[in-house]
Amino acid sequence: MTADQLRLFFALPCPPPLASTICAWREREAPGGRPVDAANLHLTLAFLGAQPASCLAPLLSLAAQLPGEGCELRLDRLGRWRGGVLHLAPSRVPQALDELQRQLHARLSGAGFELERRAFRPHLTLARHYPQPPAGAAPTFDWPLRQFALFCSEYDGHGSRYRLLGQWPLRPATPTGRSAP
Ligand code: ATP
Ligand code: MG
Repeated sequence: MTADQLRLFFALPCPPPLASTICAWREREAPGGRPVDAANLHLTLAFLGAQPASCLAPLLSLAAQLPGEGCELRLDRLGRWRGGVLHLAPSRVPQALDELQRQLHARLSGAGFELERRAFRPHLTLARHYPQPPAGAAPTFDWPLRQFALFCSEYDGHGSRYRLLGQWPLRPATPTGRSAP
């Protein structure tokens, strides 16, 4: 990465009250490893990696035009991936979240950004280098998805800090069902 490059990613930032609740649960029920700071809890939608600062204006404009819809996300699975990534995930991925990620990836690819081709596995990382499979029962956390954001990840000598570069509301969910005659 060169001096004029930014390490960028789009994500859903975890609302601070929910982040505090999740961290309090983690300290009680799943301490260990290298915990992610409450301020850093997020769900990644698209990782862009190192990009020149000149990409910012087009990215902000692309995000502002994204027709994303809000929804309710229930995190009710607790897992650990190889390498020790302790995370929460939903057992049911809302269609609106899948659609948001799909649209974002399609537009970013269309604009020439190279993205991971792996299947989308929405999750919130709780800790890294977590030493063993989590033992206790999975908790349930309800997260109203109302906005998404573009972050720049910066290393401050201790760990990564995410600088908010832009944030956009997700429109209210379309009511389902038919209209009354
Ligand atoms: P650290 O690397 O210091 O442990 P971090 O992983 O939170 O902290 P970044 O590496 O800058 O910070 O990553 C920012 C976000 O992008 C995180 O959600 C991370 O999981 C995700 N990410 C990082 N690298 C990739 C990658 N190669 N592909 C997909 N997502 C990635
Ligand atoms: Mg990382």
